[in-house]
Amino acid sequence: RSLTVSLDQSCYSIHIGSGLYRLLPELLQKAGVGRDRKLMIITDSEVAPRYADRVKSCLDFAGYETGVSVFPAGESNKNLQQLERLIGECLQFGLDRSSLILALGGGVVGDVAGFVAATYMRGIPFIQLPTTLLAHDSSVGGKVGVNHPLGKNYIGSFHQPVMVVFDVDVLHTLPKREIVSGFAEVVKHALIWDVSFVKWLEENTEALLSLEPAKVEEAIYRGCRVKAAVVSQDEKESGIRAILNYGHTIGHALEAVSGYQYYTHGEAVAIGMAGAARLSQKVLGSSPELITRTEELLQAFQLPVRYDQAWLERDMLQAMKRDKKARRGEYAFVLSRSMGQVELIRGIEEVHVSQVLKEIGGGTG
Ligand code: NAD
Ligand code: ZN
Repeated sequence: RSLTVSLDQSCYSIHIGSGLYRLLPELLQKAGVGRDRKLMIITDSEVAPRYADRVKSCLDFAGYETGVSVFPAGESNKNLQQLERLIGECLQFGLDRSSLILALGGGVVGDVAGFVAATYMRGIPFIQLPTTLLAHDSSVGGKVGVNHPLGKNYIGSFHQPVMVVFDVDVLHTLPKREIVSGFAEVVKHALIWDVSFVKWLEENTEALLSLEPAKVEEAIYRGCRVKAAVVSQDEKESGIRAILNYGHTIGHALEAVSGYQYYTHGEAVAIGMAGAARLSQKVLGSSPELITRTEELLQAFQLPVRYDQAWLERDMLQAMKRDKKARRGEYAFVLSRSMGQVELIRGIEEVHVSQVLKEIGGGTG
């Protein structure tokens, strides 16, 4: 299956399916990337031993000179130190402005490798090869970057990939926790855009959790379709693109206050969406059914909807005021009027936010 992301200046395709790595040389040729151009695969220490050779040998065989650069897996390595080290390896391998970077991994690899591509010699092209379910989201849209100790993704830029190639064959080696985590962004795409997608997820939860190939491909395709539609309308987030941050205000705060070690991104966003549904009722008067249906869907996917109160409300509020959508220290949240429909609301009063934090701060279940 393929999709196209159309932007003002450019467009690129997303390919989703089985056995796609073998087709990489062909896809590169089609995208105008000749064999005279050097390639660097950037990946992490979990993905490298499983898939780096598979990708490299397909490219070597077709005559591409391909290097591999590995950094330690995990959100806590999405930082400037790793960026500097990876750029050093690119220089040593002799990458120049005509070269390409291939980001082989989950969202962490995509964000870091994409930011290497955005900054290396003021920017070289790159390709996304997502290997987690969650990365169906992160690989599309061109947001790349690293974390700062004070908050998520504070250092970054927009740099669109040349293409996205999602070979679904790699998903079976994902740890259970990462499979579950990935469904958080799939659920998000449904909740913000498409009630029929919500219904389909409710009906297919079991098949999806057991990674039934046809269903998983369909879920990735539908999720990417929402993401592509939103990004095509607003590449640099001057308006509608903000809705993709549904659940992320609380989610990012949770990740930051817990040092990026405690919750996966998907878990934090799931808790954040439960919070956003509750805040929607308080601020917009949305129906209580929005809360129950949201929480039931997340729980059916075995995602958390409550956070551990070890993380202090005061720190959470501070972190949310530093959110990139906030202005002049007021709270801004993406909220839902009804299922499938969300918008960015500014100027939310602290009493509502802290009330919601109390409601969802009841342990990890
Ligand atoms: P991740 O990249 O850390 O991957 C999760 C774990 O699974 C890692 O340990 C990884 O090494 C391992 N792994 C990856 N693929 C595997 C495979 N096929 N088999 C076995 N193990 C595998 O995390 P993630 O959940 O994919 O991504 C989360 C990150 O994505 C966060 O940093 C988040 O901010 C970012 N993100 C970015 C965007 C964006 O638009 N740029 C959107 C959503 C999320
Ligand atoms: Zn996210």
